[in-house]
Amino acid sequence: MKHTKIIATLGPSLNSSTKLKKALDQGVNVFRLNFSHGSIEDHLNTVSMIRSVAKTYKRPVGILADMPGPKIRIGVFAKNEPVYLARNATCTLTNRKVPGSSEEIPLGYDKLPSMVKKGDQILLADGMMELKVLSSNSKDIQCKVVVGGELRQRKGINIPNRYMPISPFTERDREILKVVSQSDIDYVALSFVQKASDIVKAKSWMKKYGRVLPIIAKIEKPQAVAEIDEILKVTDAIMIARGDLGVEVPSSQVPVIQKQLILKAAMHSKPVITATQMLESMTFNPRPTRAESTDVANAIWDGTDTVMLSGETAMGKYPIAAIKMMSSIIKNAESNPAFLQDMPVPLHSDADHIIHAASTISKSDAYKAVIVYTESGKTAISLSKTRPRVPIYALTPSFETYRRMSLIWGVKAFVSPKGKNVDELFAIGDKNLIQHTSLKKKDPVIVVAGTGLSSGATNILKIHHLGESAS
Ligand code: PEP
Repeated sequence: MKHTKIIATLGPSLNSSTKLKKALDQGVNVFRLNFSHGSIEDHLNTVSMIRSVAKTYKRPVGILADMPGPKIRIGVFAKNEPVYLARNATCTLTNRKVPGSSEEIPLGYDKLPSMVKKGDQILLADGMMELKVLSSNSKDIQCKVVVGGELRQRKGINIPNRYMPISPFTERDREILKVVSQSDIDYVALSFVQKASDIVKAKSWMKKYGRVLPIIAKIEKPQAVAEIDEILKVTDAIMIARGDLGVEVPSSQVPVIQKQLILKAAMHSKPVITATQMLESMTFNPRPTRAESTDVANAIWDGTDTVMLSGETAMGKYPIAAIKMMSSIIKNAESNPAFLQDMPVPLHSDADHIIHAASTISKSDAYKAVIVYTESGKTAISLSKTRPRVPIYALTPSFETYRRMSLIWGVKAFVSPKGKNVDELFAIGDKNLIQHTSLKKKDPVIVVAGTGLSSGATNILKIHHLGESAS
C-alpha cells in the first residue's frame, strides 16, 4: 500500500469509464475537476461517471472541484488547435470576437486591454511564454513576443507587476459553488486565495446554498504565502499551486516556499498537496525526466500528503503511464522512510497529546496498526501528520468522512457504525478490520478513540488485541 495519495486532473485524456478504471487501478485516489474548463453540466455528468466506476472499489474515491477564481485566460479558439508565437513577432490580444491565430488572440477577460500599460510584461501558460505590451486601447493589446512557443486556448495569463482589482471569490465561483455544494463532490479548491476571509466567505456561501464542503486553499499568490498562518487556521487543506506561484513570485523562490508551506501545514495539522509540473514531460513523453522523479520523491520526504497530476492526465498523451510512474516513485520513496522528516505537529489539546503518543508507540515495531475512530476525520488527519510507521485504519460512521479520507496520507478508511458504548464500538470495529484487512484476531494494535462517541472528543489511547473486550 502506498501512503502518499494521488490526485489526477480530468480532461479529454481520461474521459471514459474505461480510462477512469485504469486510472484507479494504477493508484489514483482523487479526481480533480477543473471548473476553469467545461460547463457545470458536463462536470456533473463526469461526477456521475466517476461514482458509477468507483462503486466496484473497496476504497474511497474522492472528487475535488477546483474553482476558476480570478484567473485571466486566453479565450476560446474557433478550432481547438494551438497557435505558434514566434520570438520577436508582434501579436494582438483582443476582446473582439476573433477565431484565434498567431496574429490575433482572443481574450477570456474583456477588461484586460483597459488594465495594461505600455511596457507591461504579460506571461502566458504558467510563464512559459512572454509578451511585452507595445500599446493598448479598450479593445486591443499590441504585443511583441519576447519568449515564444505553442499557445493553446484557455491558457492562463499573468501580469506579475500590475495589481488586478479582481475579487478572489468571483461571480462564476459563486455560481459553481451553489451547484457543487449540493452535489456528490468531496472537496472544493479555491484559486488565488489571498487571505483567510476568502475562505470564510466561500464557506458561508456554501452554507447558504447546500452543505459546507472542506476547502483546499490554493497557495499561488505572494499575499497568501505571507498570510499562511491565518489561512491555515480556517482552511481544511492547502495546495501548493506551483504553476501560478512560480509566475507570481520568481520561480527560484518556489522550492523554499514549498518546504515552508509543508512545515506550516504540519504545525496546523492540515493536509498539503504539492501540485503542478510534477511529471510535466510525460504530457508528451512516455518517461519522466530524472529531475521530475526526484522532485516527486523530495516532496514526499519533505512531508507532502498528496501529489497532483495536471496536464499529464487531463490532456497528455500518456495519462495512465504518468499515474503508474507516480505510484512507482511514491512506493520507492516510501520504502526509504529514513529520509522522511519528523514534522513539528501541534501539542495543545488532549487529543494532540494522545495522537502524538500513539504515533510514538507505533515506532516501537511491537504493534501491527493504529486504529482511529473518527467522526469528522480530524483525528485521522492529525494522526496521519505524525507519520506513524504502521498502517493507519480510520473507522468512521460517516460516509462523507470515509470519502474524504481519499486525500489523507497513509489512511485506509472503512465505514463502521457507532455502537452504543466503547465496548460495542470496538467490537464492531474489530470485526470490520479482521474481515477487510490483513489484521487477524489477537493482533496487537494501538487504538485512538473518544468515550463521547462524537466529533472532537478524542480521549482514549489503548493497546488492544483485536477481538478482545475493550474494557
Ligand atoms: C497551479 O497554478 O499550479 C494550479 C494547480 O492551478 P491551475 O491548474 O488552476 O492553474
